Amino acid sequence: MDQIPRPARAADRSHAVVIGAGLAGLTAARALADAYDRVTVLDRDTLPADPAPRRGVPQSRQLHVLLARGAQALEELFPGFLEELLAAGATRADTQGEVHWYLDGHLLRPAPSGVISYGASRPRVEHHVRARVEALPGVVVRERVEVLGPVTTPERDRVTGVRVRPRADGAGEAGGAGEETIPADLVVDASGRGSRAPAWLEELGYPRPRQTRVRADVVYVTRHFRREPHHLGGRSGVALVPFPGLPRGGAIVSEREDRFAVVLFGLLGEEPPADEAGMLAYAETLPGPDVAEVLRTAEPLNEPVRMRYPASARHHYEKLDRHLGGFLVTGDALCGFNPTYGQGMTAAAQQAIVLRTLLARNRDRDRGRGRSRGAGGLPRRFFRAAARVVDTPWLLAAGGDLRFPEAEGRRGPADGLLDRYLTRYRAAASVDPVLGRTFLAVAHMLQPPARLMSPGHVLRVLRASGRAGGPVRTES
Ligand SMILES: Cc1cc2nc3c(=O)[nH]c(=O)nc-3n(C[C@H](O)[C@H](O)[C@H](O)COP(=O)(O)OP(=O)(O)OC[C@H]3O[C@@H](n4cnc5c(N)ncnc54)[C@H](O)[C@@H]3O)c2cc1C
Repeated sequence: MDQIPRPARAADRSHAVVIGAGLAGLTAARALADAYDRVTVLDRDTLPADPAPRRGVPQSRQLHVLLARGAQALEELFPGFLEELLAAGATRADTQGEVHWYLDGHLLRPAPSGVISYGASRPRVEHHVRARVEALPGVVVRERVEVLGPVTTPERDRVTGVRVRPRADGAGEAGGAGEETIPADLVVDASGRGSRAPAWLEELGYPRPRQTRVRADVVYVTRHFRREPHHLGGRSGVALVPFPGLPRGGAIVSEREDRFAVVLFGLLGEEPPADEAGMLAYAETLPGPDVAEVLRTAEPLNEPVRMRYPASARHHYEKLDRHLGGFLVTGDALCGFNPTYGQGMTAAAQQAIVLRTLLARNRDRDRGRGRSRGAGGLPRRFFRAAARVVDTPWLLAAGGDLRFPEAEGRRGPADGLLDRYLTRYRAAASVDPVLGRTFLAVAHMLQPPARLMSPGHVLRVLRASGRAGGPVRTES
């Protein structure tokens, strides 16, 4: 790994570099723009001018939903963002009132909840976030630049920049022209699930962060359909959540008023087919009729696209006792979740808010001491704070997956008891709408999971679970 001397601060105004122009990189850039004179976001992809899927983000062809907490976080980072998204054709829905949820095969009792999610394609969300970021003073997004690794001081105690090389347009290969070093005071790795940060750190003599993995082996098949007013009885979407005994599910999201994204997925060896007849047959085995109905009656707009997601993976940078100064990791590169829970964009935006708060605190403190700002000590504080943000979605996703006896991962001693309670909870939520509302508020990260176990909720579960019928079944 190259080493170059630290750039002279007087000549070079403070500069932060972000690796990756996905949701995590762009939202991190938003946070950095308040604290650094210049922010450069580098991506190896060609970034489309219109909202379109791209090679470096294979999940951009798959169904995405923006959870309620994620919508709030993006609005906090970019005031007016949600109105802008809606004006561009995205939809909003009360997730309990306008979406049918099937939990363990029970239809969650529909009722207005105030838990509001947004339907928009992943490229659409990125397109608007990127436009906002590019409009910030001092921020530049550079495409077709591949980051090869960090550059450090000779002592290897802090980053001084990144080594990069150009990529040829669309070819996915090195462009041939030479490598260069881009000097930086801070480097944020937001390069997604394939992040090389653990290997980079190891090469520099730092410990590799420990990794927790929960293997659920998810296979997604997404296809888009024309949405007409009669579909789903006018509702906005559907979510059929897999459960032990039926490790398959599906979902429908209105990406626009006239367009559905429909996904079928399987876990732990279950794989939805990617042909029309096979998809319909698979959908007919789900405990609610909604997905099969749309597949049967709506006009397809494209071909089905398949994607495999082997495991949720969390990298414990917060547990390291030594950090490379000025080097942070965020988004999927820090923690990637089983996508069926829809949490990744929300967690990325929340981490950006954490970063913004820490940088503001640094600035105030340094100003108080009459010092110029710097990134010293930031990694430790950031990784600890980001770990707290990630704890909740991780608990929900990893905990949900570990309900399946076949899922590989470490289980806690109380998991069995908790699982039995939550199984009764899901059944009871088909009767008591308050239980449904809390369940969705937790799933959308508006409330902490402990809320599900409050004395009032335990009482409601005891009362309602006796009245819950059996799981909804589709006709075979
Ligand atoms: C099938 C699927 C469905 C999902 N559904 C949802 C959902 O419904 N809701 C939700 O919130 N989240 C969902 N997610 C997760 C969500 O897409 C991501 O968590 C979110 O977009 C944040 O990703 P990211 O920015 O960290 O990484 P990415 O989106 O992977 O972006 C990484 C970027 O880094 C660039 N890059 C990589 N290496 C380099 C390098 N060396 N140099 C330069 N650039 C580099 C890539 O080109 C890419 O642009 C889903 C994920 C999957 C896989």
